Amino acid sequence: DQVLKLENVSRIYAPGTARELQVLDQASLSVNAGEMVALMAPSGAGKSTLLHIAGLLDRPDDGEVWLGWVAMNGRSERQRTAARRSEIGFVYQFHHLLPEFTAAENVALPQMAEGRSRSEALTRAEALLAEVGLAARGDHRPAQMSGGEQQRVALARALANRPSLLLADEPTGNLDPATADQVFEVMMRVVRDSDSAALIATHNPELAARMDRIIRLDQGRITEAPRLV
Ligand code: ADP
Ligand code: ADP
Repeated sequence: DQVLKLENVSRIYAPGTARELQVLDQASLSVNAGEMVALMAPSGAGKSTLLHIAGLLDRPDDGEVWLGWVAMNGRSERQRTAARRSEIGFVYQFHHLLPEFTAAENVALPQMAEGRSRSEALTRAEALLAEVGLAARGDHRPAQMSGGEQQRVALARALANRPSLLLADEPTGNLDPATADQVFEVMMRVVRDSDSAALIATHNPELAARMDRIIRLDQGRITEAPRLV
């Protein structure tokens, strides 16, 4: 079951200028439900660009982006925003939690943006926090939590609308190895339990090796890497 497909996607920054830079060159990729895919490439190779295009935050200059079986390039910004909110969850290297809100409120907000009432969103938020091992921490503010806990709240928030696709950009990049491992374990479990798909950019070869597939970005193209052992 196709969740995401990039078909010959190209992205050129500052075209026609001296700073012209082709970051993606006919990159193709498909991700099915239940798959966890690691994206490994050096800094500057275009991982964030690829994730932004897959997440409908940016449009390719050429090629097509499919979310499920829907081609997204021809859709309006409004339709793309609606699809992003209902189908995609994002986790970044930095948690981007709102400091003045509690953990539960941070997880509830995207649901309220989707039309849920505050009380229903907060009830679901507590359940999502329990799923990431943070039961009873819902009323803590981000500053009162450790880095790993903050990142698990960000994960719960990303899952709040039960997305079919989780996109993560170096989600454990700011964490010490033991904490990174713990956060990654939780991420694997929740993605597997929900039968959604994940595309996760990481520099960590041990974590990448535990996913289903590893892809690399090389000169703007996507290549499947041989399985690390
Ligand atoms: P990565 O996430 O792998 O580090 P990025 O996708 O962030 O790579 O960036 C790829 C290249 O494109 C880098 O050289 C970066 O400087 C450049 N770049 C990224 N965003 C823009 C932009 N909006 N305008 C111009 N150049 C950009
Ligand atoms: P980095 O991985 O380079 O440290 P961040 O993790 O802070 O950067 O963010 C990764 C990318 O996601 C950035 O290009 C940023 O513009 C974008 N971004 C950050 N927060 C949001 C958000 N809430 N919604 C959409 N895009 C965001």
